[in-house]
Amino acid sequence: MLLSLYNADEPLTIGILGGGQLAKMTAQAAYRMGLRVAIIEHGANSPAGAMTKIDFPEGWNSPEALEQFIEASDIVTLENEFIDVAILERIAERRPVFPTPETMRLAQDKLIQKTTMANAGIPVPRFARIDTVEQGYEFGATHNYPFVMKTRTHGYDGYGNMTVKRDNNVLVAFKKFTSDPDAPREVMAEEFITFRKELAVIVARNRRGEVVLYPCVETVQENHICRWVLAPALIEARLQKKAQEIALAAVEAVKGVGIFGVEMFLTENDEILFNEIAPRPHNSGHYSIEGCYTSQFENHIRAVCNLPLGSGELITSATVMLNLLGVRPGSGVPDTIVGLLQNPRVSLHLYGKKDSRMGRKMGHLTAIGNSVEDAQERLIKAEQDLVW
Ligand code: ADP
Repeated sequence: MLLSLYNADEPLTIGILGGGQLAKMTAQAAYRMGLRVAIIEHGANSPAGAMTKIDFPEGWNSPEALEQFIEASDIVTLENEFIDVAILERIAERRPVFPTPETMRLAQDKLIQKTTMANAGIPVPRFARIDTVEQGYEFGATHNYPFVMKTRTHGYDGYGNMTVKRDNNVLVAFKKFTSDPDAPREVMAEEFITFRKELAVIVARNRRGEVVLYPCVETVQENHICRWVLAPALIEARLQKKAQEIALAAVEAVKGVGIFGVEMFLTENDEILFNEIAPRPHNSGHYSIEGCYTSQFENHIRAVCNLPLGSGELITSATVMLNLLGVRPGSGVPDTIVGLLQNPRVSLHLYGKKDSRMGRKMGHLTAIGNSVEDAQERLIKAEQDLVW
């Protein structure tokens, strides 16, 4: 059982599968704790890969690169849920891997994930496996239209979702995903939830089962992409607590070790339904870098190293995060950040992505304050002062 960050006189090296912004912010937390970081990613100069000499840009599909990455790492973790479980199992034969391959198997397929949660007694929208277009029609007939068709794997920022408005859309949705020539995917169907708000809770759980719950936050999506995170959610304390209980139950249902983001819907009759669990640092927890005593990234490192966890409480009464989404194709570097930096009570995070695309997550802004409204106002102004 590992309770030290050091192996003899050397700092531990945390190996991260993936080199995007989540790996980058995890690495930043690891560096602050005196650790080293190894990155494996498909391509050189990824946001996290560019920060370390221990970078394997050939990616995990290269057996040689994977071998060197395993050799270089003391503990392995990941920043996305799309890595083949067989690869994680191969790594786990040689190094501790958290979240474990078993947790990843339960989390990476939305159908298995929802089934696991339903079996654990967690409230979920009605859902079904869809293997044929006839099963799609049957779902619509039983649970009404609209419903949501989702790819079971590789969905993110709404890319694997389609709202099926009426029966003559079923075939279109089914074909779009299952006959995609680049990447055909299996699908599932889910009842359409007319939610009042979308909620999220970050949960840290270490290898001894110790747990830290972050506040219940409200996420606001635009075009299926998260734009705002308001901490705490502007809902009754009773509902916030209920959301935290569901999030904890969800992480325990997948025997999670590390940091997890749990997304939920708050319905019009104040029911809270589980939407999905992300077995990794989550966009809805970026506010914790400035907003909480211990960020989600630091608690992730602490959890996978089996160290005591830090408090996830808010430092002030409110924190708001605004995602900076790509506004044009082209360079990922803004024209100038000078105007934005004239807003002294706003924190800027730019991920260092080489290319920008419409809607791509390029960075985020955080403001802590006395109220959500006050922090939000400052962020609206600051974003207007950023020139892309
Ligand atoms: P992703 O993996 O792409 O994040 P999600 O399943 O979380 O996919 O869906 C993305 C967004 O689509 C959600 O944040 C929500 O706004 C909407 N959505 C997902 N499932 C449903 C549902 N059953 N009913 C209504 N809206 C949904």
